[in-house]
Amino acid sequence: MITLQGKSVYRDICVGRLVFYGGRKEAARRVVENPEGEFLQFEGAVEAAKEQLRALYEESVRTVGAANAAVFQAQELLLEDEEYRESVRQMVYGQRVNVEYAVQMTGENMARAIQAVEDAYIRERSGDILDITERLLGVLNGSDKGRELPTEPFILVAEDLLPSEVAQLSRSRVVGLALRRGSVHSHAAVLGRNMGIPFLMKLGEELSDEYDGAPAVIDGFSGVLYIAPDGITLARLEEKKREWSRQKELLWELKGKENITRDGKTVKVFANVGSLTDVEAACANDAGGIGLLRSEVLYLESAAPPNEEMQFAFYKQVLERMNGREVVVRTFDFGADKQVPWLGQEPEKNPALGLRGIRLGLEQPQLLKTQLCALYRAGIYGKLRIMYPMITSMEELRQLRHLERQVRHELEREGVRFAESIPTGIMIETPAAALLSDQLAGEVDFFSVGTNDLTQYTLALDRQNENLERFDDPGHEAVLRLIKMTAKNAHEAGIQIGICGELAGDIALTEEFLRMGIDELSVSPEEILELRQRIREI
Ligand code: PEP
Ligand code: MG
Repeated sequence: MITLQGKSVYRDICVGRLVFYGGRKEAARRVVENPEGEFLQFEGAVEAAKEQLRALYEESVRTVGAANAAVFQAQELLLEDEEYRESVRQMVYGQRVNVEYAVQMTGENMARAIQAVEDAYIRERSGDILDITERLLGVLNGSDKGRELPTEPFILVAEDLLPSEVAQLSRSRVVGLALRRGSVHSHAAVLGRNMGIPFLMKLGEELSDEYDGAPAVIDGFSGVLYIAPDGITLARLEEKKREWSRQKELLWELKGKENITRDGKTVKVFANVGSLTDVEAACANDAGGIGLLRSEVLYLESAAPPNEEMQFAFYKQVLERMNGREVVVRTFDFGADKQVPWLGQEPEKNPALGLRGIRLGLEQPQLLKTQLCALYRAGIYGKLRIMYPMITSMEELRQLRHLERQVRHELEREGVRFAESIPTGIMIETPAAALLSDQLAGEVDFFSVGTNDLTQYTLALDRQNENLERFDDPGHEAVLRLIKMTAKNAHEAGIQIGICGELAGDIALTEEFLRMGIDELSVSPEEILELRQRIREI
């Protein structure tokens, strides 16, 4: 038995085989003797990729609905594209290069050419081209997306994962995640926690590929990965898991009860979600509403920007499922570590301080307007609120109000039904927003504190940097002071304030947050009942 110590981001235990997930590698150029054989490999890879896309389509119809799954059908058609095939053929026969190289160059060249086209719809296809190219390379290399994932429960092992990769993982088969590296405050960790499965990071190089396929157990309480566990260890961990399930069952008795302290103070306990599966988990755990829908997850899951109809269908489904309970949708917050291939963003030296969140939205207003159109239209199906991320100034708000007016005007002109007045709020996740909260509070309907970024920017601690852990201090005095000040300013202006960053679920801080008068705490679905228990003890 091998025992590896890591850092856990989710408390639970799981058992499964280890499956190693390789990242994308550049294909090296080789001269080949037998172009016919090389091109035959391409034909085989196309067929295998089509099979995978069909399976993905069927699975996605079940998990995210037909509208969102349609992208896989579109990609299957793209695999039959004559121009793509001809380009690979010419490179393989004409330049006598290996098929992997020909596929990679074809994909990159075609995507680049398409990105230069005026028509936004055609430009969107470049992401699909890059995606099918990666899929073909995966099949040809026998790695990444081409790799067959087992149908029985498995633990996925990787060097590190991007938020987009976490977003695409199927919850039905992945029972746990184990990374050699990773940062516990990263977006990948946040999204993984929402999936509600054991997730270990920083297991180190000892987690070598030679364990691929080995049986293993993750203990998400102690942060230990057991590879080929012996009978005694397995029995002990299974008992620990049963005990945890018993404790959770006790927590389930809190369902339907109020979030009220002993002296009668109530607070809303909401859920953070990114997908319909998370919304189901939120309902199962009796969330009072959705305090943060990370809408960028929808974009991260798509090879092209989701169009208005797709987004409308998604928000409508969420609102209908929440059946009159509040739903706060945060407009897309990508950039930094949450990259979408079709945006073609230039690499930045300091991406966390770069073009992300609302800055991207204001830089590419058409993208934000499409989302706002979908939101205004979906607003008639429930209690929707819109929230903007990464705000740093009053000027940004002024520009957003202008965009909102334009969107409403366009919808009116088209005669489309939409919700005329949707409350809009902002995330307080930069020190600038906290310091200006007295002014900002006069312009918006609510605040929600993003403690993950507020901590990152206040303490100058890069969320992605895995070497800063010893400087980590959840609930640092400086961050708490900013929250307290913001809460006071919110209440003086007569608006509510919530917390939706990970600190909202830290039960060591609940009492302090209640003392500040925080009106809403929004946490991962699985944390709701434990938080309710804590509130009822105070
Ligand atoms: C935050 O920054 O605290 C937050 C909730 O947003 P995200 O984690 O998605 O950046
Ligand atoms: Mg944030």
